[in-house]
Amino acid sequence: MTENYGACSFCDMPLTSDHNCRKSGIAKVGKPIYEQSHIIRFFSYDHLPESLQEVSRPFGILALQLDMDLPAGPEKSAGLRKLLEAKDCMVRAFVEAQ
Ligand SMILES: [Zn+2]
Repeated sequence: MTENYGACSFCDMPLTSDHNCRKSGIAKVGKPIYEQSHIIRFFSYDHLPESLQEVSRPFGILALQLDMDLPAGPEKSAGLRKLLEAKDCMVRAFVEAQ
């Protein structure tokens, strides 16, 4: 099964049923194909300076893991949005401390 649901917002590789996200380290082997939530792209941290990447990375990995493991629905969407808000707050806290 090589059905493609677009590119992974994390590693830019095609989202296939055996997607092994080389950036997050999360493997999806054996799990059903899923449509990655749009909000996942806002958890990417490649464009950030190294110090900010360290603050953002755990949120990104958690978001991707939860997005893969939980069924789509309003609660997952709300949870991912709150996680994004928390990530942005932590980035601002880090920047303020510099
Ligand atoms: Zn990926």
